[in-house]
Amino acid sequence: MQMDPCELSPSYVRSIAPYQPGKPISELARELGLKEENIVKLASNENPRGIGPRTRAAIEAALGDIARYPDGNGHDLKTALSRRYGVETGAIVLGNGSNDVLELVALAFLGPGRSAVYSQHCFAVYPLATQARGARGIAVPAKNYGHDLEAMLAAIDDETYVVWVANPNNPTGTMLRPEALEAFLKRVPERVIVVIDEAYNEYLSPELKPETVKWLRRHPNLVVTRTFSKAYGLAGLRVGYALAHPSVADIMNRVRQPFNVNSIALSAATAALDDMEFVARSFAENLQGLRQIEEGATQIGLEWIPSYGNFITVRVGKANEIFRRLLKRGVIVRPVGGGYQLPEHLRITIGTASENERLLSALAASLKE
Ligand SMILES: *Cc1c(COP(=O)(O)O)cnc(C)c1O
Repeated sequence: MQMDPCELSPSYVRSIAPYQPGKPISELARELGLKEENIVKLASNENPRGIGPRTRAAIEAALGDIARYPDGNGHDLKTALSRRYGVETGAIVLGNGSNDVLELVALAFLGPGRSAVYSQHCFAVYPLATQARGARGIAVPAKNYGHDLEAMLAAIDDETYVVWVANPNNPTGTMLRPEALEAFLKRVPERVIVVIDEAYNEYLSPELKPETVKWLRRHPNLVVTRTFSKAYGLAGLRVGYALAHPSVADIMNRVRQPFNVNSIALSAATAALDDMEFVARSFAENLQGLRQIEEGATQIGLEWIPSYGNFITVRVGKANEIFRRLLKRGVIVRPVGGGYQLPEHLRITIGTASENERLLSALAASLKE
């Protein structure tokens, strides 16, 4: 009998459940015979404002050079980040999205015989990256949909080398108080890498932003990750980064692909980082949109989890069914059953005011159907 080559893949790889991305607009358009411009996608926490003109200009300028390999050290972007955050360039790791950087942490610090701690309802990439390294995932029950830091601390065992923390968390939108997060960091054993994933940091109001970059000086086991995919509007280009102790950054840089961030993404991110006004507007408009959806959802009798990101997770009951009814109305949101264990909820990305309006009326109609 013929050998199935898949049988040779380690069992921990074969048992990985594939990541479920938000449904692309083009796919729904094909399925329903709708025009793409009539579809509203509020499923992947993208920035509804697109990108700013300076970023667009940088992208156009970068096109001239795409026959060449990108700068594998990302000099310009690292220099810009180093100025912004007051860290040395050796403390920065660039990634093909911050997802890539999370994988690098797993690649550098996890493996068979090791474990990683994360929370129930956490970002799906933490269990995925852990399992793909053959490490054991320790999922800690959530408290009020958020991370229970005390329980996460207690869950750390002799084999734990990484703790994954998302602040704010996706898909629940929950936020950890800066003092609580810092107290947690002080109590985690020094041998354990603590990843604080700040993909939504730009959406936090200033008084709620923890001083994670400052904490790096005192905690060589801290890895802070950020992305250009959300508030900066560059999800399609894939660029994110980690800030860490230079020796931790060095290990992570050794296991990354030499050219993991493409040249257009490098140029776009460097320009976008400078466009403070774009990010400030994204923050302000997101807050308005968040209030709009909170109020609208309450009016149609729905409960929601208070969110600190650019999305909100709403309890609709039979979420998969409501998801399908919304699709028929040309609105894509994200069910969070399955691995996220929230079978009654839908995660809704905050869109423009008119997109939010469209979502709310489609949601009201879908609930009555
Ligand atoms: C969106 C997201 C990311 C990263 O996305 P990239 O596009 O890979 O940068 C990381 N963490 C969380 C919690 C996210 O929601």
